[in-house]
Amino acid sequence: MSAGRHDRPEDLMRPEVLAQPAYAVADATGLLKLDAMENPWPWPGELEAAWLEALSEPELNRYPDAAARDLAARVRAVEAVPEGAGLMFGNGSDELIQILIQAVAGSGRPVIAPEPGFVMYGVLARALGVPFRGVSLRPDFALDLDALLAAIREEQPAIVFLAHPNNPTGRLEDPATVQAVIEANPGITVVDEAYAPFAGHSFMPQAGGTAGLLVMRTVSKLGLAGTRLGYLAAEPAWIDALDRLRLPYNINTLTQRSVRFALDHRDVLDGQARAIVAERERLLQALEALAGVTSVVPSQANFVLFRVGEGQGAAVFAGLRERGVLIKDVGRAHPLLADHLRVTVGRPEDNDRFLEALEAALARR
Ligand code: PMP
Repeated sequence: MSAGRHDRPEDLMRPEVLAQPAYAVADATGLLKLDAMENPWPWPGELEAAWLEALSEPELNRYPDAAARDLAARVRAVEAVPEGAGLMFGNGSDELIQILIQAVAGSGRPVIAPEPGFVMYGVLARALGVPFRGVSLRPDFALDLDALLAAIREEQPAIVFLAHPNNPTGRLEDPATVQAVIEANPGITVVDEAYAPFAGHSFMPQAGGTAGLLVMRTVSKLGLAGTRLGYLAAEPAWIDALDRLRLPYNINTLTQRSVRFALDHRDVLDGQARAIVAERERLLQALEALAGVTSVVPSQANFVLFRVGEGQGAAVFAGLRERGVLIKDVGRAHPLLADHLRVTVGRPEDNDRFLEALEAALARR
């Protein structure tokens, strides 16, 4: 090694990190935003006024409660976290994924996740120098249990991430299949329930009581994406160990107070989630009936994945954008996703506008 300067990123950062693009967020200015699985409804006016009241005397000169005690009590009560489970918060579940992978870095054991899946598992593994192995789903996006169990036997992983339901497919696996993975995996299995508010099954009742199972949730999809709060429920020994890697005061005062307030009004958020589920069913049917849509993946989440004609994905995405509608083109993320587009369920009028724009974009190809 020469004694010269070595102050460029490529001198000091690993090539696999530099090869990775930064997390891309599309500019939605002026567009109907159906790209990021957000809840489309703002709070009713009277709730907003009460929230601002709850934020009064914010004591922003002080650090937040490092253990977020009041928030933890509310989350335990409202989200039915089992009494025997430990609970930990992250700045979004993204931060929890980072902490989990950081925790096992240096163990020599890899991280495994089905693919296509949530991209951050692989992104953060690479960032932290932990080997990552994606196990391909079946062509219908069902989990390939045999392939996953074989990979687990071969790799003896530290962590298997299973999104339940999965993103970007929206599929919810049979709980017995997930249970088989938890039992076969000698390491930990993180069941990522980001889309739990819209799904018919959850592993939360088993958190803390099933060896090797960690259940991760977020308030993002429920209607609080702007607050950035994720949480992890698991055996206390795991929560205690992971807590050593959590940055001090990672959950800011405004987030703690806002989510506490929102959870006291969970009925409003639950009503919105029910409306999203009803609209999802309508959207699934409408897409099935649309000429030019060649397949629609059954969804238990707040989004729908669908395919258009071969080679048409990018053009249809662009056509929608020209008509003022932003969805997500996932076509290049994985070979199984060629010509697939993902749309977040919006308000009824948003979904009507999307369907109209899609019909026009498909007709123009
Ligand atoms: N897990 C899954 C499966 C997701 O799709 C997402 C967001 N797209 C996240 C975790 C991250 O959510 P957040 O950081 O907003 O909590």
